[in-house]
Amino acid sequence: MEPETRQLHVFFFPLMAHGHTIPMIDIARLFAARGTKSTIITTPLNAVHFADSIDRDKKSGLDIGIQIIPFPCVEADLPEGCENMEALTSSAMVLTFFLSLYRFQEPLERLLEEHRPDCIVADMFLPWTTDAAKNYGIPRLVFHGTSTFSLCVVDNIVRYAPELNVKSDSEVFVLPSFPGQIEFKRSQLGNRGDSQNPLTELKKKISETELTSFGVVMNSFYELEPAYVEHYKEEMRRKTWNIGPVSLTNTHAIDKANRGRKATIDEHYCMNWLDSKEHNSVIYVSFGSMSRFNTAQLLEIAMGLEASNVSFIWVVRMDKTKAEELSLPEGFEARMEGKGLIIKDWAPQMLILDHPAVGCFMTHCGWNSILEGICAGVPLITWPVFAEQFNNENLVTQVLKIGIPVGNEVWTLWIEPEDVLATKDKIEQVVTRLMGKGEEAEDMRHRARELGERAKKAVEEGGSSYTDLTSLIEELRVHSQQLV
Ligand code: UDP
Repeated sequence: MEPETRQLHVFFFPLMAHGHTIPMIDIARLFAARGTKSTIITTPLNAVHFADSIDRDKKSGLDIGIQIIPFPCVEADLPEGCENMEALTSSAMVLTFFLSLYRFQEPLERLLEEHRPDCIVADMFLPWTTDAAKNYGIPRLVFHGTSTFSLCVVDNIVRYAPELNVKSDSEVFVLPSFPGQIEFKRSQLGNRGDSQNPLTELKKKISETELTSFGVVMNSFYELEPAYVEHYKEEMRRKTWNIGPVSLTNTHAIDKANRGRKATIDEHYCMNWLDSKEHNSVIYVSFGSMSRFNTAQLLEIAMGLEASNVSFIWVVRMDKTKAEELSLPEGFEARMEGKGLIIKDWAPQMLILDHPAVGCFMTHCGWNSILEGICAGVPLITWPVFAEQFNNENLVTQVLKIGIPVGNEVWTLWIEPEDVLATKDKIEQVVTRLMGKGEEAEDMRHRARELGERAKKAVEEGGSSYTDLTSLIEELRVHSQQLV
């Protein structure tokens, strides 16, 4: 008989932004499903979004829980109740928010002292957790929440500055010493050459902690981006485990429906609506948990979708402080009845994407959305706006070849771009191209479906992600035993 091993206890500390919290919770559940005790650290208003689903997990036998730390909004110069990045209303507030996170070190250390976990998995935007963990002799794992491809691109740009060799923002250059012939334009890169950017210091620290931490946990799977996984390990010398797509840990409809937040539409109504449509006949349009468009852009999207004559589900997010001003075109919703379903605020995205009626996903290229689209085996129309979304777009269009761009080529600092980024005509054109029966669309659909199958295999017992998680837990166990 094998000797009984002590149960590992792992802390999970996500960034308070849905695109980071959602996959981190999935990771905590994945660990718990493998027998570890998982504790998620968060703040009161963030816990509200997922407390019910954690309760369900507990009832089903997982050893998982939440520890709450108050968010010192007022001390940090943020409005009362501003505990999540979705509540930020200007780009200036982003830095204030990130700086406020340093205030969590002391309360986190108190929790480490009290609970003495074996490891902490913390978001990239909490680089100080490496020091906090060190103070307690435990390893910290970094969680990025993006693709390995994107991390490699960022490193390449910092290392070689290839954008300095072109004469204009729109001239194409190829990333040097990089797997594949990957083309970029300067206009797609964020904060180009801006050494004064106040986030630069934070980014430097984030990059350093990749090397000083125990390693990096990736929400990706080896078969998706093998050349970049190797590049990240071998060239960039990062220790990494690919354990995704972690969304696949949600197997019950209730978990898919309420993942991250409660949907603002009844999921049964939404599923019935999709049931009434033919397979692959609906396009799902969503720009993640943060991006917002102004009225002019909403109008172009509405007209483009109407002109394409394709059924759609469109998630419209608006700046809550401006909701009064923003509107869809007059009579649009009535005209589209039966043809288009508009969800204001929050959609049950996983359920929608998994429905066979959905044939394509127009996405802002947030990494979770891309992975969820891949798991559902649907091709993508890529519409990046900010953060690392352009990197992810280039992975989809140039490497995986499962999507076509809407054509926005200009990186925006803030989540709510001022300009119209894609016109009605362009939107109509790409939707018709990818929802049609042409060879290009069929090829992409085929490739997307194949990748979806590989994603599912990766997380099954014996699959690459399953095995990577086994090795990670084993390494943590060995590390923990050495300390005893
Ligand atoms: N999401 C959702 N419903 C919505 C909008 C977003 O369920 O209406 C989920 C989506 O499934 C994904 C996450 O929120 O898991 C968004 O993460 P992503 O990386 O795609 O983009 P971000 O919000 O970070 O820009």
